[in-house]
Amino acid sequence: MEILKADLFGFCFGVRRAVDIVEEKLEESEKIDTLGPIVHNPNVVRDLSEEGAEVVNSLDEVNTDSVIITAHGAGRGVHKEIDQKGLNLIDTTCPIVKAAQETAEDLVQEGYQVVIYGENDHTEVRNILGWLDGKGIAILDPAEEVPIPDGRVALLSQTTKGKKYFFDFAADFLQANRDQLEDVKIVDTTCGETRRRYEAAERLAEQVDLILVVGGKNSANTRKLAEVAANTGIETHHIKDETEIKRSWVEGVEKVGITAGASTPQSAVSSVEETLKKFHQS
Ligand code: SF4
Repeated sequence: MEILKADLFGFCFGVRRAVDIVEEKLEESEKIDTLGPIVHNPNVVRDLSEEGAEVVNSLDEVNTDSVIITAHGAGRGVHKEIDQKGLNLIDTTCPIVKAAQETAEDLVQEGYQVVIYGENDHTEVRNILGWLDGKGIAILDPAEEVPIPDGRVALLSQTTKGKKYFFDFAADFLQANRDQLEDVKIVDTTCGETRRRYEAAERLAEQVDLILVVGGKNSANTRKLAEVAANTGIETHHIKDETEIKRSWVEGVEKVGITAGASTPQSAVSSVEETLKKFHQS
């Protein structure tokens, strides 16, 4: 069995930056609280928690003098509450997510209703909406009915969606709402880091018989990566880590490809590779 890896996979700069900030802070203090998991990868969160980074689900649970906001950012309400509680804010919001938040906020101030192509319950999307005073909505179906006051709409995207999917959504949205629209802005807030990983997965698919996509099941970009790989027609499995590989998948397979989401550490990919090699040798 030959094992090939995508020419680009794993930690993006936003996740790397967030993890580095947490590790730096852990050198200064024994324990820190992160508001939600620092990245959508259970193994990374477990490793950081063993070093002292505890995940809290609300600011009421913080019992140190500082709190870390994750790479997915936080809404205005959370920033205000941190301020009111007198907590020291350590903000690891990815600059690309921050830019999407600021763009959306500016567009609302200019009088646009913001429509985000994205998952309503995704942390990043919730946190962008959290700056918009109710003047934003997230949808996946372009035909879904949305409020369009004065015919003014700005379309943005969850950063982890593929550019092509966002543009297709925008085209369908315009078509579905053409009678109400007067003034439309489309701002591409998709992330190039994830897009390049999707493209690398497509290149990998041209060379292999099966693809393993490594990363948290709660990671939107990893799920999308698995969808992109599967859409090539190559058998694809999304696995959290090496423990989820089934020997039957790879039996008789000549070339296995590995890729990984933007929140997946290199160590997880190495463990998958090692497990595949052991299967091959035994
Ligand atoms: S995937 Fe893109 S937007 Fe998300 S954390 Fe990484 S660099 Fe930032």
